[in-house]
Amino acid sequence: MQFVDLKSQYAALKPSIDARIQRVLDHGQYIMGPEVAELEQQLVAYTGAKQCITVASGTEALLISLMAIDLKPGDEVITTPFTFAATAEMIVLLGGVPVFVDIEPDTCNIDASLIEAAITPRTKAIMPVSLYGQVADMNEINAIAARHGDIPVIEDAAQSFGADYEGRKSCNLSTLGCTSFFPSKPLGCYGDGGAIFTSDDALAQACREIRVHGQSKRYTHTRVGVGGRMDTLQCAVVLAKMERFEWEVAQRLAIGARYNELLRSRVPTVVQRRGRNSMFAQYTVFVDDRAPLQARLSSQGVPTAVHYPRPINEQAAYEGRCRGNATPHARAVAARVLSLPMSADLSADDQQRVVHALLA
Ligand SMILES: *Cc1c(COP(=O)(O)O)cnc(C)c1O
Repeated sequence: MQFVDLKSQYAALKPSIDARIQRVLDHGQYIMGPEVAELEQQLVAYTGAKQCITVASGTEALLISLMAIDLKPGDEVITTPFTFAATAEMIVLLGGVPVFVDIEPDTCNIDASLIEAAITPRTKAIMPVSLYGQVADMNEINAIAARHGDIPVIEDAAQSFGADYEGRKSCNLSTLGCTSFFPSKPLGCYGDGGAIFTSDDALAQACREIRVHGQSKRYTHTRVGVGGRMDTLQCAVVLAKMERFEWEVAQRLAIGARYNELLRSRVPTVVQRRGRNSMFAQYTVFVDDRAPLQARLSSQGVPTAVHYPRPINEQAAYEGRCRGNATPHARAVAARVLSLPMSADLSADDQQRVVHALLA
C-alpha cells in the first residue's frame, strides 16, 4: 500500500497523459506553449475565478502573489503557524513579518476569531491556509479584511484545489488563491507546478508580468519579477489529469466519508464544518503516543505521515523573524496529528486494512 497511489492514477490515464506529452514533444514549445493557456482556461472554468496564471510551483504562486500586492520590508501578514513552511517562508523572503494566529484545534485551520486582534497599521495581507483540503472560515476572514480597509486575503490553497466552500470553489474565495500541482496534491503534475487565481484584472496582470521577470512585453521590464513559469509539459500532464478530476474529487469525498464513518467515536479526526468539504489532501487523525503507533502501523504495511510535527513559529529559521509565538493549539495539535493513506485510487480493501491496523 502506498501513502499516495500515483501509479494506479497513471495506469488509468496512461493513453491521455502519453498522448498529451507526445504532442508537446512534437510541437517543441516547452516554455509558454499552447498547453499553458489551455490549462489556464480550463482552471478558470473549473474554479469560476476570472483569471488563472499558472506558475512554477505552489511556493512561487505565494511569492508572486505577495509581490503583486507589493509586500514591502516590515509589512505584516497574518497567517497560521500550522502549515507547510512555504507559507511563512515567502513572507520572510520579501522582508515581511509573519504574524501567527492560533488555530482551531478541531479543523486545524486558522481561528478567524483571533485575527482582528492581530491587525495593526502594518498589516498588508491575511493569508489563511486551507489545511488538509478544507477552507478556513473564509466568510469571516473576508468580512474582517473588508472592515479594515480591504486588506488583501490570499488563500494558500495548495492542499484544497477542488474543495467547496458554501457553493464556491477553493481558489475563488478571496483576493488571490494559490494552489500547487506538486505530484501528491489533490491535482498534481509530474514535477513542480502551481497556479494563482484572482478576479482582479490589475492583480492578474501584475502576476503575469512578475512570472516573466516583470516584462509587460518582451524586454520591457516594468517591474521586478522572477522566472516563475510553469513548463508546457507539466501543463500537459495536468490537462490529462483534468479528464477524470471530477471522478477523483468524488472518490476523495467518498473515501474521506468512509474514514469518518469507520473511525467515528473511536479515534478523533480532523472535523469538517457544515457548508464545506475537504479534498483530504491528507486524511488526518489525532493520536497519543504517535511514534510507537507509526512504527507498529509501518510494520503492518500501513504507511503514515505527520503534517506537521512542529509549528513554523517554533522552527529555528523563523526565530526573531515573526510575531505571535504563543499558539498553544498549534503546538498541541502538532504533537498528535497523524495522516493516513489517502488517494482517489485507495481501494476499499486497503482502507479497511488501514482502519483495522489503527484500531487494533
Ligand atoms: C505543498 C504546499 C505548498 C508549496 O507548494 P509547492 O508546489 O511544493 O511549492 C505551500 N503551502 C502548502 C500549505 C502546501 O501544502
